[in-house]
Amino acid sequence: MSTEKDTQTVTNTGEITRVTGPLVRARGMSEAKLYEVVQVSADRLLGEVIELHGDEAAIQVYEETAGIGPGDPVYRTGRTMSVALAPGLLESIYDGVQRPLKLIESASNSCFIKRGIDADPVDMSKQWAFKPVVKVGATVEPGDVLGEVQETSVINHKVMVPPDIAGTVESIESGDKTVTETIATIKAADGTVHDVAMLQYWPIRTARPKKNKVFPTEPLRTGGRSIDTFFPIAKGGAGSIPGPFGAGKTVTQQSISKFCDAEVIVYVGCGERGNEMTEVLSEFPHLVDPNTGESLMKRTILVANTSNMPVAAREASVYTGITLAEYYRDMGYNVALMADSTSRWAEAMREISGRLEEMPGEEGYPAYLSSRTAEFYERAGIVKTLGSDDRIGSLTVIGAVSPPGGDLSEPVSQATLRVTKTFWALDADLAYKKHFPSINWLNSYSLYVENFGDFWRDQVAPDFAEVRRAAMELLEKESKLMEIVRLVGMESLSNTDKLVLEVARMIREDFLFQDAFDPEDAFTPLDRQYGLLKSLVTFYTEGEEVVTNPEFDFADFKKMPTVGETTALKNNITATAEDYQTFQDRIRSDLQALVK
Ligand code: ADP
Repeated sequence: MSTEKDTQTVTNTGEITRVTGPLVRARGMSEAKLYEVVQVSADRLLGEVIELHGDEAAIQVYEETAGIGPGDPVYRTGRTMSVALAPGLLESIYDGVQRPLKLIESASNSCFIKRGIDADPVDMSKQWAFKPVVKVGATVEPGDVLGEVQETSVINHKVMVPPDIAGTVESIESGDKTVTETIATIKAADGTVHDVAMLQYWPIRTARPKKNKVFPTEPLRTGGRSIDTFFPIAKGGAGSIPGPFGAGKTVTQQSISKFCDAEVIVYVGCGERGNEMTEVLSEFPHLVDPNTGESLMKRTILVANTSNMPVAAREASVYTGITLAEYYRDMGYNVALMADSTSRWAEAMREISGRLEEMPGEEGYPAYLSSRTAEFYERAGIVKTLGSDDRIGSLTVIGAVSPPGGDLSEPVSQATLRVTKTFWALDADLAYKKHFPSINWLNSYSLYVENFGDFWRDQVAPDFAEVRRAAMELLEKESKLMEIVRLVGMESLSNTDKLVLEVARMIREDFLFQDAFDPEDAFTPLDRQYGLLKSLVTFYTEGEEVVTNPEFDFADFKKMPTVGETTALKNNITATAEDYQTFQDRIRSDLQALVK
């Protein structure tokens, strides 16, 4: 974790009384503060005070505690668990307490991380070309942008006045600066002069301040047809992806990271099995951002904690991730945070709570599981940031949940469902049938749909919501009809029912099914999603009357040229609004031809 080296140095020392796994108890800690960072034993293992009783402290240790024991010292630092915020965060891969994985790997000379390694979260010697945007004499308030640095080829980093400083700019200089050099001095009303550097710190367990939340009216565009059209999430929304192992949680989150229209991505891999995280770590740097053609890492921060890393670091990793995400939100960016999987985070919480001998709640999780989960997702939002220029930034949070056995009644799923408004229920049966994404269209929901009426009407098509609703109804009717078919067979169905089944099949196969690994299929912009879905729904709206005509024979319907062309229509990535219109006209004439 970052070290506010310039603040208080190590003060008085405590003494370990007991060690239980990642939890250490120490006495002589009467002056310690809750969430204070401590160094444990002569090895200086990184720890955090999580409970205080008079002279006694419970400390969670972010490194392997083997070999330390009663009598060993505990050094206080006087600072709270914080992340370092500065240019250089993007493209980084951190562990749960913001130690860069590459650096600690090379410092310990192996892929197993040695203990007690204190690595700087960002390069302290690198110089960045700082360009001021305010002049000497300007009055600034917390959050005001002082200047900019081109952090990567795609992201311009805004250096902001820290949340606790306001006043008049006494000096500000352009030029090449390291993150610790003073770039500006600000004189407060009481006469104090503050030196401001690019490097700032923020405690991970406290949400970064904002002016206010704004009502979300715009969806995060992910290019996923099932998501964007049927179960959209707002920019600044909170969503969950529950699903059993192998259902596609990781693929879905990676796909969103790659294609969504957030400018910055924070991906927290939280305690999935070691090799799985290795895949994410090795794949991510090779992913190409389709919008810029650059590596996706240019706008991404990875926080990686595998299950073989200490449990306490896993607990901290989601807070580290979300604080980094809020920082870019404060610059006015749209940020998306993926947490995969929050179940592992909750399990870490359970383990630590057990060691603290707290009263267990449901299934052994601590009673505060719900409130911690709620606090985490509440940090999502579209906000008016601090600062006088009325910037708007958003932080969308998408958490995967892996309920054991796919049972959504378990505590982590329940706690998550209560606070997330979009729910993409991944379905083991669909995944087994290779229907991807395996988002179950009957169980999933989005409570943001009502918010997007104006957006869809003005930015996509006047009848977007109607077409969406019609398609949903067809899928729901299909599910009911399939019950009947299972009992009495297809013969009992009317032509109208058969039409429902046929069109619902097209919607499933040519709209909902989307291959995340096919570069052309993986992303569909909203206007094409609309054109395609409207075309499919047209088979029903135009066919509804035709199929009741006594001359109509259902066998002919399936032979219509347009019916055979829907997959080609889906695959046509250059189709324009006119192409879809032409196709819909052809559906009409195909249908009319059947009853002539
Ligand atoms: P989980 O994270 O839920 O355990 P994964 O995301 O690793 O599951 O997905 C398991 C497998 O399912 C992937 O390796 C891939 O083969 C397949 N898969 C999942 N989603 C898709 C998709 N949208 N398109 C194609 N294949 C997918």
